[in-house]
Amino acid sequence: MNMIPPNTSMDAAKKQFLKEFGESYGYPNAPKHIDDLRATEFERLDGNVYLDHAGATLYSELQMEAIFRDLTTTVYGNPHTQSSSSLTSSNIVEDARHQVLKICNASPKEYKCIFTSGATAALKLVGEAFPWSNESTFMYTIENHNSVLGIREYALNKGAAALAIDFEETAQSDTFGSTKSSIKVSQHPIPKRSEARVSNRDPTGHTYNLFAFPTESNFSGMRFNLDLIDMIKEDSERILGGSQHSRGSWMVLLDAAKGCSTEPPDLSKHKADFIVISFYKLFGYPTGLGALIVGNEAAKLLKKTYFSGGTVAASIADIDFVKRREGVEESFEDGTLSFLNIASIRHGFNILNTLTTSAISRHTSSLARYTKNMLLALRHANGVEVCKIYGLHSLKAVYSGVGPVISFNLKRSDGSWVGHREVEKLASLSGIHLRTGCFCNPGACAKYLGLSHLDLISNIEAGHVCWDDYDILNGKPTGAVRVSFGYMSTFEDAWKFIDFVVRSFVLLPTNSINLNPLRSTESSHHLTSIVVYPIKSCSGFRVDTWPLSSTGRELIVI
Ligand SMILES: *Cc1c(COP(=O)(O)O)cnc(C)c1O
Repeated sequence: MNMIPPNTSMDAAKKQFLKEFGESYGYPNAPKHIDDLRATEFERLDGNVYLDHAGATLYSELQMEAIFRDLTTTVYGNPHTQSSSSLTSSNIVEDARHQVLKICNASPKEYKCIFTSGATAALKLVGEAFPWSNESTFMYTIENHNSVLGIREYALNKGAAALAIDFEETAQSDTFGSTKSSIKVSQHPIPKRSEARVSNRDPTGHTYNLFAFPTESNFSGMRFNLDLIDMIKEDSERILGGSQHSRGSWMVLLDAAKGCSTEPPDLSKHKADFIVISFYKLFGYPTGLGALIVGNEAAKLLKKTYFSGGTVAASIADIDFVKRREGVEESFEDGTLSFLNIASIRHGFNILNTLTTSAISRHTSSLARYTKNMLLALRHANGVEVCKIYGLHSLKAVYSGVGPVISFNLKRSDGSWVGHREVEKLASLSGIHLRTGCFCNPGACAKYLGLSHLDLISNIEAGHVCWDDYDILNGKPTGAVRVSFGYMSTFEDAWKFIDFVVRSFVLLPTNSINLNPLRSTESSHHLTSIVVYPIKSCSGFRVDTWPLSSTGRELIVI
């Protein structure tokens, strides 16, 4: 197993990989072999190694041909118009809604599908229309996307409380001296806003709370156990230790934007109230289209403020009169639906249905597990570990597994961190596409990188914002490197990435040359500075030391 490149050829490594993961790798029941699928439907990758499927997965070239053929041979009119071309559009939209419900095993009798401009727009809609009152709580796991955290603004502005939670394992000794572990919920309340425009309670006097968590974290890949839905709905008092937040009814919002591509939530078993998804995360195209799947009962509670063409039955321009449309989709879909994009999604669903999401999950997991094992085994010549992976040790009661995502940081042989921007720049020179930073998930970032509020604030004060080059501040990483796999990822992608890490960052015994200026005083040449120019025509950065790889191909030291 510990055959680590570059001592191993790719072919030999693949044999080893298939021995261990052959049962999970590829799609034996699909018409095409994975290598065939990759060669014929993703020709444009042409040697590139694309490992940012958590950012956006890739559309297949056949999928795009099918969409093009569809749009160029069908007359699609505005679904709001009453004509045969609009009927075509309406039918296509209704079919698309069914496909969306089906992927989450949601019965059309219990759930509706509202199209939105993305997962973010779906989350915003829930935040805007949720029946907040001054007794409500918006509770969310620390590990959440910024687009979920933003719901907090609606809650706080309406006088509700916000509560971030995380889970810890605690060991307890019983009277017989044996220790049992149990899960503790750590609570991080966010104070109410004094200037909030307090919303009165629902006319029925009922308090509604909202609990939001991702099905899969886009940072660590951890999949949250969906039993949390029932646990919080039925037992919030015990879980929250009888705190003031446990009053009233709990509604649950699942952010399935990341998780849906490999493990869609099964809504026949786990009755969440709101579920958001995003189509470019599922099959690459179209962008700017997402959906809110909403339970019928939950939909009745939502109260939208804005009305528009699309959601209005009648309004009068110069008096305060509006009659809204009835029906769940009609009350929430503002304007004209993105009907051509909606018409395109069935060509993406065709792929998922052919391969099946369970096979995609197995396939991508095999690549992620292999890559993780390889990274964990890497050592510098002096024995120092090369890679720290985040989210490895998880609590079984809270997490049900892990998706095909690996977030990590690399260390030099002296134990200092390699900045994530440095990794990103070198990766891009090797044609490897990966993502670095906090991935819009500040809670996970702070938790895994061990950044305190003080660290975060001092980093912000030092001028660090998302996307900048301050990747290490006060000796600590400000973000991480993330690789993630998609249904068309192959063993070769994983291997090329590991090979890149070894070549660029692992100090093997014969790899190092000493660049210490003090050592070179005997020769007539003095090394006075090292400036690395990772990208042609862009400014370089000055470093004190720089490990060279055995090929030295990526670096020009001037
Ligand atoms: C991508 C992503 C989002 C945002 O989705 P958009 O469709 O781009 O708005 C939200 N949450 C998670 C977990 C994501 O991965």
